Amino acid sequence: MSKKKLGLNTICSHIGEVPDTQFKGAVSPMFLSSSYEFLDVDVKRYPRYFNTPNQDYLTKKIAALEHSEAAMIFGSGMAAISTMFLAFLKQGDHLVVQNTLYGGTVNFIKEEFPKYGIDFTFTNGYQAEDFEAAIKDNTKLIHIETPSNPLLTVTDIKAIAALGKSKGIFTSIDNTFASPVNQKPLDLGIDMVMHSATKYFGGHSDICAGAVASSSEHIERIWNVGKNLGGSLSDMTVWMLERSMKTLGLRVKAQTKNAMKLAKWLDKHPKISKVYYPGLKSHPEHQLAKSQMKGFGAMLSFELTEDLNSQEFQKQLKLIKSSMSLAGVESTLLSPHLTSHALLTQEERDAIGISDQLIRFSVGIENTKDLKEDIHQAITALA
Ligand code: PLP
Repeated sequence: MSKKKLGLNTICSHIGEVPDTQFKGAVSPMFLSSSYEFLDVDVKRYPRYFNTPNQDYLTKKIAALEHSEAAMIFGSGMAAISTMFLAFLKQGDHLVVQNTLYGGTVNFIKEEFPKYGIDFTFTNGYQAEDFEAAIKDNTKLIHIETPSNPLLTVTDIKAIAALGKSKGIFTSIDNTFASPVNQKPLDLGIDMVMHSATKYFGGHSDICAGAVASSSEHIERIWNVGKNLGGSLSDMTVWMLERSMKTLGLRVKAQTKNAMKLAKWLDKHPKISKVYYPGLKSHPEHQLAKSQMKGFGAMLSFELTEDLNSQEFQKQLKLIKSSMSLAGVESTLLSPHLTSHALLTQEERDAIGISDQLIRFSVGIENTKDLKEDIHQAITALA
């Protein structure tokens, strides 16, 4: 059976299982060995080589979900992204990178690239022409994030892929917010997809992991750097991640449906001055999002009116937790200016539109009436 023809939930629940040939158990056995036979074997296995049985098999599930030839899993999303960058950029090369993206990625580029002699340009905007304007003779990689963290801007994936191809520049995307349930960038021409698997892949706020999916050739290039940097994931966590991913399709679809309902409700709330969600018709790239996403995702952001203090608002919530991460089955929210984008200066945050009133909302699987009620009572308590 061709993997592409299998349905989403079938891939999630079946592909990439380690067969239990000994006891015929229904789920993958966990192989915790960090030491394997090397004589007369086809593959020399070692955890840092990203090829233990559990690591090896789980990559098949990720590849099937992203429609890629191959994939790699890492100890964190940042291990995935840093390894991918360093595999495709060397001293004297130049990276074009989107200006609105996850703060940790921004910090990695700004703090580490100068030490490696790698040049970079953050775009002035997130449209294809902004990326084209930033390209130099030595540009080797264009990196995008769409929908982006935390403002949910949407970049034209096909246009970026075409731009890269026309100039002989590799393209990569952070697909964490959409997940492969809602967006498959490789089908749109992008070369490499990365994930913070800490988020939707894990989905229960108890795993830290990362992933990259691409052609076998690119994955080999990333593997060559990965084995030196050593960002592999422990097999116990790999096993947990496999178990979590069995429900990825179910979870993300339920969360996406909830986010749409919440976005519409928040948009009408008198104490919410702005809602950022690509599923809303008022979102500037709604049509583009519709054309390149299957669903609009379960992340949204909103701004409280000036009279409400965003920290006090979060303290009043009874059900929704303030939390540094996202994408769990439980709804969480945070203030980007205090967390994901805290290391940016006030000027940098102002320049990309991250105000102190902004709340990033990761919508879970709860009943939407309970989520609405919680937000409403928190606002009422402050008013
Ligand atoms: N990319 C995005 C969009 C994220 O939100 C995050 C973390 O929040 C990362 C990458 C980094 O992932 P990790 O925390 O797993 O290293």
